[in-house]
Amino acid sequence: MIKITPLYAFSDNYIWALLNENNKQLIVVDPGQSEPVESFINEHNLELTAIWITHKHADHTGGVKKLREMYPLVNVMADERHGVKADYTVKEGSSFRSWGCNIDVLKVAGHTQDHLAYVLNIGENKHVFCGDTLFSGGCGRVFTGDMQAMYNSLLKLNSFEADTLFYPAHEYTASNLKFGLFIEPNNAAMQQWLEKVNQLALDKTPSLPTTLEIERLINIFLRVNEPAVVESVSQKCDLIDKAPLTVFTALRKLKDDF
Ligand SMILES: [Zn+2]
Repeated sequence: MIKITPLYAFSDNYIWALLNENNKQLIVVDPGQSEPVESFINEHNLELTAIWITHKHADHTGGVKKLREMYPLVNVMADERHGVKADYTVKEGSSFRSWGCNIDVLKVAGHTQDHLAYVLNIGENKHVFCGDTLFSGGCGRVFTGDMQAMYNSLLKLNSFEADTLFYPAHEYTASNLKFGLFIEPNNAAMQQWLEKVNQLALDKTPSLPTTLEIERLINIFLRVNEPAVVESVSQKCDLIDKAPLTVFTALRKLKDDF
């Protein structure tokens, strides 16, 4: 049994912890801090075997050096430009195996140029660790300025089966939904989801992971083909055309200042 739990880091980061309950081994994704991982290891008496890095930002990589010193046998998977010492350099199309499961690596550029997502296949089910590319209700800032790349990355992630589970690295769901409702005020699914997420926050419960089935209804950045969204963005911005990429670009800029 593989159990996937979020470890809290900084104010709103999640370090996803993949715990193999059969052999007590642990894999963590994007340890921006080492302390939450150390505590989890000590609490459950685990062996840290691997670290997967999605991108170079310090809140995703800052704990790697310390964890490597404490657990010298750990294998770090990263792109060569992620700014960490990697034992295995991975990129688009790479795949490897852990605990009898296949993991496929995808490039999802846009937030950063060398952003990766890790797709863990457990039986028929896919679990996607997507860093700062897809959030619940939103997407990452496009620091590269390459809107086409980010748009394509979201299309790539949205091409999975509806029940695919996504594990973003931040708890931004409520603020994303408020922006979504600013664009699409009559979206009942968004309204209901915001209520639910607000309740979860009161109970200190993460709103993640999420599924594409949900995101297709509540994530404004996956809805750039919806007439209501195109209409709303057109009214707020001077669009040169109504192509999905144009709508996406305008939406992302609106969100940057929201
Ligand atoms: Zn980032």
